Amino acid sequence: MPSHPQYDVAIVGASIAGCAAAIFFGRTGARVALIERDRDPAGYKRLCTHYIQASATPTLERLGLARAIEEAGGVRNDAEVFTRWGWIVAPSEQTIRRPAYGYNIRRSTLDPMLRKTAAQTAGVEYLPGFSARELLIKQGRIYGVSAQGGGDAKLDIEAKLVVGADGRNSNVAELAGLAAKETANGRIFYFAHYRNLQLASGTRSQLWFLEPDVAYTFPNDDGVTLVAAMPARAKAAEWKADPEAAMTRLFERLPRAPYLPQAQRVTPFMGCIDYPNLHRSVSKPGLALIGDAALSLDPLWGIGCGWALQSAEWLAGAVGRAWTSPTDLDRRLSAYAKRHRSELAGHQFLIEDFSTGRPFNFLERLTFSAAARDPMCADTFSAFGSRCIGVRRFLRPDALARAMWVNARHALSAAKMQPRLQ
Ligand SMILES: Cc1cc2nc3c(=O)[nH]c(=O)nc-3n(C[C@H](O)[C@H](O)[C@H](O)COP(=O)(O)OP(=O)(O)OC[C@H]3O[C@@H](n4cnc5c(N)ncnc54)[C@H](O)[C@@H]3O)c2cc1C
Repeated sequence: MPSHPQYDVAIVGASIAGCAAAIFFGRTGARVALIERDRDPAGYKRLCTHYIQASATPTLERLGLARAIEEAGGVRNDAEVFTRWGWIVAPSEQTIRRPAYGYNIRRSTLDPMLRKTAAQTAGVEYLPGFSARELLIKQGRIYGVSAQGGGDAKLDIEAKLVVGADGRNSNVAELAGLAAKETANGRIFYFAHYRNLQLASGTRSQLWFLEPDVAYTFPNDDGVTLVAAMPARAKAAEWKADPEAAMTRLFERLPRAPYLPQAQRVTPFMGCIDYPNLHRSVSKPGLALIGDAALSLDPLWGIGCGWALQSAEWLAGAVGRAWTSPTDLDRRLSAYAKRHRSELAGHQFLIEDFSTGRPFNFLERLTFSAAARDPMCADTFSAFGSRCIGVRRFLRPDALARAMWVNARHALSAAKMQPRLQ
């Protein structure tokens, strides 16, 4: 390889966002360098509970990966959600006109599969073991990346577009001067994988809102279930001291929860006690950020993998084959930034706000309680939770009116029952 190879696109990071972008760009006929610091093609992200929301299913289908995920044992997901008003259960697949399910698939299965597909895409050159260290910049325009391999191996890779897909602590963003804005997260998280866990929900995922703590079970490929908790930060000492005991105690008091000591834990507990929300501007001349490099929020809602896939597709779709002039490319990068904002800013606002660990606000009490009582409200709730609809549709006047009507009807029938009970 020449020491100054030239490409149309240089993507830094060969995880979910980077591999998806490489596949989409490769398909447009672009020459793509896919730069990854990890040498191992079977490497994967460990700090992830890998619930991929339904919003990303169309992207997975277009990548040609939905079937591969199912063949690898990935579990179609939707969740039943426990609240103080009862369980919210989404209607069955057949009755809804949006992607009805996403996938639960362990990153140890998913990441190598994505990387292999990207590396086999025509036009994509996968460069494992190279770490992006510098950006090549001329007159304010980014035109490539300098990457360090093992020993003295160094590549100055020139590209018309550089894509930062290097995760939440993005070095590319840092080098480009796109500093992250941070907001605090009031919860901590711990999780582990179990085998032979008996779930009352079958293959459905479960989520418990305990106000402020949250717990989950996500059945995955190969009969393994992920068990997770996101307690309030005030409980950090208890969880740090013995996460297994804390998790077992928590699950003992949850309704319809599995009994953990009967199953085998097959991975060590992983956790984190400080995980702020991060967001950045997503483009500048010659450069775009996708996935966590652009936006990395509270893991409570399981949104990062889906948005990594979707933002990769939005970028490739906006750019197309705009290689003829930098002006045209930058115009399209602005269009990508606009799309990213319009798709995700509303979700971001609500997720950041809820991540403080505050109690449910009025709108959450209204919509969650109605969703526990009425299938139509449950459908709207699950369409929003799976990120298939945005905030505007979730809070549309007719949706709120129905929630109010459902709750009023419930209050009325409870009042009628009252004298009979006395
Ligand atoms: C506890 C936890 C639970 C989560 N659970 C879920 C969930 O249930 N569902 C969900 O959708 N999301 C979840 N997420 C979020 C999800 O893990 C991320 O959003 C997702 O991995 C983002 O993908 P990415 O490709 O943008 O970045 P990453 O997966 O972080 O990949 C970045 C890649 O860039 C490479 N890289 C970094 N720097 C360089 C460099 N300088 N040069 C070359 N390569 C580099 C890295 O090696 C890596 O391969 C969770 C996150 C956490 C912390």
